[in-house]
Amino acid sequence: MARKPIIAGNWKMYKTQSEAADLANGLASAVGTYDKVDVVVCPTYTSLEVVAQAIKGTNIKLGAQNCHFEAEGAFTGEISLAMLKEIGVEFVIVGHSERRQYFGETDAAINKKAAAIYKAGLTPIICVGERLEEREGGKTSDVVTQQVKGCLADLPADKVAASVIAYEPVWAIGTGKTASKEQAQEVHALIRKVVAEMFSQQVADAVRIQYGGSVKAENARELMAQSDVDGALVGGAALKADSFAGIIKYE
Ligand code: PEP
Repeated sequence: MARKPIIAGNWKMYKTQSEAADLANGLASAVGTYDKVDVVVCPTYTSLEVVAQAIKGTNIKLGAQNCHFEAEGAFTGEISLAMLKEIGVEFVIVGHSERRQYFGETDAAINKKAAAIYKAGLTPIICVGERLEEREGGKTSDVVTQQVKGCLADLPADKVAASVIAYEPVWAIGTGKTASKEQAQEVHALIRKVVAEMFSQQVADAVRIQYGGSVKAENARELMAQSDVDGALVGGAALKADSFAGIIKYE
C-alpha cells in the first residue's frame, strides 16, 4: 500500500512570534506548493496563530507540540484541543521524549491524549523510542513494543490507521547521531508488526511511521528509502527554512 510520506518540523521552545512568522513565510515560499509529501510545522502555542496566517493557502499543515486530554477545566497552564482546533491545528505531537523525560508523560497519559485528539477530529503524532542505555542493554524491541502497546491500547482501529507514529531513538535526538538506515528500518518494521497484532494488517499497512533523530537533508533520502519509513519528525534542522526544505525535497 502506498503511504504518502509525512515530514513534520518540531520547533520545540524556539522562535518568538516574529521569528516563527519569518520561518513560516520562508517555508511557504520554499515548499508551499510542494505536494509529494505532507508537510507539518509545529511551533509553540504562542506562535500558532501567526504561523496559521503565514501558511494559509499553502500545502503546509499546522501541528501543536502537546495538548491536554480534558475538554476544559481548572488546569492552569494547559491548552485544550478545542483551542488548538479553532486556530487551525490538524496534528498534535504526543509523547515526545522531552515530555516523557522532563514532564513525566507516561504511555497511559499519551493514550488518553490520543483518544482526546481523535474525539476532536485531529491527528496525533505519537512518539516512541528507546534511551541509549536501553539500546545498549539489548532492550530496544521490548521498550518500543511496550510503548506502542501502552500508547495505542483500546484506541479505535480506523483512527489508528490514519495516525502517525514517530520512532525517535532518544540517543539520536539533538545529538547529531542518526540511527543507521538498517536500525531505523528494523524498529519501524517492529512497530508495524505490533500494530498488526493489536489491530489488523490493514491498520498496520495504513499507519504512517516517521523516523526522528538528527534528520538532515544529507541523510533524509537514505532513511526515507526504507520500506517502513514513511516520513521524518525533525527538530534542529526544521528551524531554518532552507534546511527543512532540503529534507522535504529529499528525492
Ligand atoms: C525531535 O525533537 O523530535 C528531533 C528529532 O530533534 P532533532 O532532529 O534535533 O534530533
